[in-house]
Amino acid sequence: MIGTIYKCEICGEESQNPVRWLVIHCNSEQLTIHKWTKEAADEYGARHYCGEAHAQVYVSRWLEAACS
Ligand SMILES: [Zn+2]
Repeated sequence: MIGTIYKCEICGEESQNPVRWLVIHCNSEQLTIHKWTKEAADEYGARHYCGEAHAQVYVSRWLEAACS
């Protein structure tokens, strides 16, 4: 079975089985971080990160944008 390939938005790392990755759902009002589940990862607009460090990069960017 060929799975979906997910790509980290920050470093571009790709994985078909991203066990410890994180998923972020956000809009201009709120941001939610999910531990990796296929359901969360496949949701429309979901963003994928290879780990906590790269998820935090995005959270920081989002917070800065929200405050500007
Ligand atoms: Zn990454």
